[in-house]
Amino acid sequence: MSARMYIGLAILAALPSSAMAQHRHHHHHHHHHGSNYGYSNWNYVVPHTHQYRGAYYTQGNSSYYTQSPIVYAGVTQAGYVPPPVQQPQQLQFGGFSYCNDLTGRLEAQLNLLCLELHYNYQHNPDFAHTYREAYNILQLAKQLHALDHQGQREAIRQAVTDLDQQYHHVQQDIAPWTRQDRRHIPPGDAIQKASAGEAMLHHLCFDVGVNPHVAQPMPPRLAPTPELGPTPGN
Ligand SMILES: [Zn+2]
Ligand SMILES: [Zn+2]
Repeated sequence: MSARMYIGLAILAALPSSAMAQHRHHHHHHHHHGSNYGYSNWNYVVPHTHQYRGAYYTQGNSSYYTQSPIVYAGVTQAGYVPPPVQQPQQLQFGGFSYCNDLTGRLEAQLNLLCLELHYNYQHNPDFAHTYREAYNILQLAKQLHALDHQGQREAIRQAVTDLDQQYHHVQQDIAPWTRQDRRHIPPGDAIQKASAGEAMLHHLCFDVGVNPHVAQPMPPRLAPTPELGPTPGN
């Protein structure tokens, strides 16, 4: 556990309970949009928001949508069983049933990502290059949303394919970046905002009939040999 986390815990312990509940709420959003939300056999969770009803998640190779809000199931007492999800609907490959909802969510999420990058990441190397790319994928998401309203399915598939590739490129660019806290744009930092958007994008891929992206293994990095404790001298 890092020193920073220790300080965080010390502050938590000193907070009155209502502030603490708020902090907890805030904290779980930080760490679990786009991931499994505390459900060990789920992935790509897209929770409901103030604007968007219902939630998406992946289980096995299938995507599901449920109207019931998904309750974060991570930081809980041992033995806690999260409430069952009500009537999940399985997304059909190329079904185009959730395209409008997902492109709307993706557009909003990419706008958040651009704001987050603009305010809190400008000090990173090649910021201008990556910001331009992030801004481009936001424009692509806007076009997608418009294409959906026009029902142009082939154009949508092409745009989603392009967007997916460019999206993962931006994720790689920002992976090593550091954050300077100039403006708070909850939930999450840029990496977490990007992973939340990735979850939306991959449900979208499935819904419009683009083969869900298979994660490329990262090129093997010459990892520095970990420093070993010296053998005790004689
Ligand atoms: Zn780049
Ligand atoms: Zn992808």
